[in-house]
Amino acid sequence: MEDTISFGANDEPPSPILTEPDPHSEAGLVVTSSAFRLHTRRNIATPPKRERTLSPQKLESTQVISPRSQSFRSLFYPNATEEQWNDWRWQVRNRIRDLKGIVQILKLSESELSALTRQGIYLPVGITPYYASLLEPANPDQPLRRTVLTTENEYLVTPDEADDPLGENGHSPVPGIVHRYPDRVLFLTTGFCAVYCRYCTRSRAVGNNKGAEYTFDINQWNNAIAYIKNNSAIRDVVISGGDPLTLSDDKLEYLLSRLRDIPHLEMLRIGTKVPVVLPQRITPELTKMLQKYHPLWMSIHFTHPDELTPEVKQSCERLANAGMPLGSQTVLLKGVNDDVETMKDLMHGLLKIRVRPYYLYQCDPVRGSAHFRTTIDKGIEIIRGLRGHTSGYAVPHYVIDAPGGGGKIPLLPDYLVGRDGNDVILRNYENKLFRYCDSEGKTGRENNQFDIRKMLS
Ligand code: SF4
Repeated sequence: MEDTISFGANDEPPSPILTEPDPHSEAGLVVTSSAFRLHTRRNIATPPKRERTLSPQKLESTQVISPRSQSFRSLFYPNATEEQWNDWRWQVRNRIRDLKGIVQILKLSESELSALTRQGIYLPVGITPYYASLLEPANPDQPLRRTVLTTENEYLVTPDEADDPLGENGHSPVPGIVHRYPDRVLFLTTGFCAVYCRYCTRSRAVGNNKGAEYTFDINQWNNAIAYIKNNSAIRDVVISGGDPLTLSDDKLEYLLSRLRDIPHLEMLRIGTKVPVVLPQRITPELTKMLQKYHPLWMSIHFTHPDELTPEVKQSCERLANAGMPLGSQTVLLKGVNDDVETMKDLMHGLLKIRVRPYYLYQCDPVRGSAHFRTTIDKGIEIIRGLRGHTSGYAVPHYVIDAPGGGGKIPLLPDYLVGRDGNDVILRNYENKLFRYCDSEGKTGRENNQFDIRKMLS
């Protein structure tokens, strides 16, 4: 493929040329005086008359719409056709991005209202109509709502927080590349996301908001590709952003094909939240294109079991059917997913849609995120509540991405208790102790602070 590519007016990322949807346009948000009142859980849960049933043959080309989405669409976007709702570009163009759009759908708390009218946060608000259909209109404490709607808490900055908590800028040899580990790099493709998460580690660089450091630039891509080409130690590229799946198929294919041409690259990975917040993007055309570039892995950002809708199930099935190994990434968030049962539901739900739980991240100390951060005790408690209590495949790695760029550090409950002579003493998931003979090993010898014999007696 050529080293250059031209992109037409319809190409993504659309944010630099995005115009706000006209709320009164044919397909835009339309609000009736009774809209808010009608948009209740009860109403949304009522299956509409035109509920679709899918035959297996049609699944690949037909986009699923859940009863909840149908109900939301007919209430708030009555002029939008089903075809428009299922068009990912329509979803992007009609994202809810300001107070005017939000108050038509949600009853705001004082904190939300105040934050939305203030200036000064880096990260804009952006919510696809599809994801908005999952929000509870009258409940500001709803987990999903807390992750996408700004509150006054974002203006509280604690001393340990930073704009770039992982020190990515300091590990960037060329713009758009973060090179922290010897054999792999992060490729920042775009500053655009379908939905902006309020705890985003890269909030300094996404959103194309004033002050954002990074926007799409083909010359920047080419320089980044040249950097990878000239560094033969790199065997793995994580394509991230912003969200790379907000790019058009053409742009994405350009990037994938250029990277695939580099002989020392063994694997490519895409990091994305799009299958969760914009499942309409996972079209048969996209998956057909992606499968040309195997081995291609995908890490999908999930937060809560409420995200596991029929639409998301379909998007993950399409990716899995195209041969993509799928892993999840979840940030541990206070009041959102910080209890064992919620996390277990999420992990079980992911396995059912063929996504292997991969990472559970301690929330990074990014500016204005203190209200989301849990203690480390909480993360370990969750892992302890999963390990042994459910399938091993359902247990993610709990990690802290070390501030300043130290990389991911795994955290585990204390299963290794210590040593008694030739025996290592281990604790199982039921808190029972067991011996394992390891006469030549050193493991556990350093843990002499425990009175092992007393513990075993
Ligand atoms: S999708 Fe990822 S990059 Fe975009 S706002 Fe959310 S966490 Fe940040």
